[in-house]
Amino acid sequence: MTDLNLARELKALLPADAAEFLRGAAAAAAARGWRLYLVGGAVRDLLLGRSGGDLDLSVEGDAIELAEALAASPPDVNVHHRFNTARLFWDGYVIDIARSRQETYPRPGALPSTRPGPIIQDLARRDFTINAMAVSLNPDDFGRLIDPCGGRPDLESKLIRVLHVRSFIDDATRLWRGVRYEQRLGFKIEPMTLDLLQRGLPLLETITADRLRYELECVLKEPAPEKVFRRAGELGLLRTWHPALRSDQWLMDACSRLRSLVEQPPPEAYLALLAWRLDASHREEFIGRLRLTKHQARAVRDAGKLVQAEATLTAVGTKPSLVHHLLDGLVDEALTAALAAFSRGAAYYVERFQGEWRCAAPELTGEDLKRLGVSRGPDIKRLLEDLRDRRLDGPIGTRGAEEAFVRDWLAGR
Ligand code: ATP
Repeated sequence: MTDLNLARELKALLPADAAEFLRGAAAAAAARGWRLYLVGGAVRDLLLGRSGGDLDLSVEGDAIELAEALAASPPDVNVHHRFNTARLFWDGYVIDIARSRQETYPRPGALPSTRPGPIIQDLARRDFTINAMAVSLNPDDFGRLIDPCGGRPDLESKLIRVLHVRSFIDDATRLWRGVRYEQRLGFKIEPMTLDLLQRGLPLLETITADRLRYELECVLKEPAPEKVFRRAGELGLLRTWHPALRSDQWLMDACSRLRSLVEQPPPEAYLALLAWRLDASHREEFIGRLRLTKHQARAVRDAGKLVQAEATLTAVGTKPSLVHHLLDGLVDEALTAALAAFSRGAAYYVERFQGEWRCAAPELTGEDLKRLGVSRGPDIKRLLEDLRDRRLDGPIGTRGAEEAFVRDWLAGR
């Protein structure tokens, strides 16, 4: 326990109306005989002087009843009856309210079974000491820090530490979470936790593909995912996604180049870079192992198509129509990744395609072609593509020239 009070930090780092909202929420809980706490990442970030992000609240009472009492109107709250949790959307904030609970793990990899419990128990089920702190929002001790596991000293020493030796056995996704926090915050995983982490690597086999994919998605949303890739590579974690993945200097450079080229790159662009150098069969294994979503899988597969296209795109004088044929239909995130992965020459063509050539179209429409006498069916599609290519490459520049081309084509049949 600690006597530190964070009321001032709450006031300084949260907008005034958010702090008021939290006080109001605690009063509503108190009226029902319950106590309410800010928990998890928001407390960690408050102590680090960072603001922003979602707010997680724990109530020693019914989370759904409290959320519904707080919601300005019913559509602003989503409830989850099985876990007694609720999500409120309030003034740009996502506020998650959960019933304070204790957990037991029936077997490694399984989701925990839970029952209501006091805040101290709720903190004891968390992943790392720096995430296992709460701030009381209650009228009698608003702002009091509750830190039963030594999170604050670990924050000061910049250490990631599990709460107990079975932590990774209970939930192996924490291996990924640990590396993510370490790299995001510039901390170090402390020696005993590091030892448990390395011994826990085989436990990742117990995690379902969907949970593994969720961890991947969290990594891809980090400000610099390549730092997590590199550390995961060093520690042997990366190979649990696929043994052929490499987190070398090429990947570090490509990811940071991506950020210099695109503001806030989309997660799938980082994913495409991660998978850039896998061969076709490894690519499919990677997609299957993590059960990637359709869109993620397309980004990974299109990365492969781009790798194959690079040689053609590097050749001097490649025609825009050929570039169009090579790149049309590829997902934008993979094209964006190519800007960072390709040589300058090839990246030039991708940029022209994204900015200009992708939208090229003839002036004539299918209806125009029919009026000129082209019969329905595949001829129309083929002619429209032909006209687009001629537009792109230059020989045709006007509607009149397009019509002349079509008439010649009809005459030559
Ligand atoms: P951020 O959102 O900034 O990555 P966060 O700490 O808010 O960080 P969440 O994933 O939103 O992360 O989780 C909220 C809190 O729930 C964590 O701070 C931690 O206390 C707890 N938690 C989340 N996942 C786990 C887990 N796998 N095992 C134990 N506790 C967890």
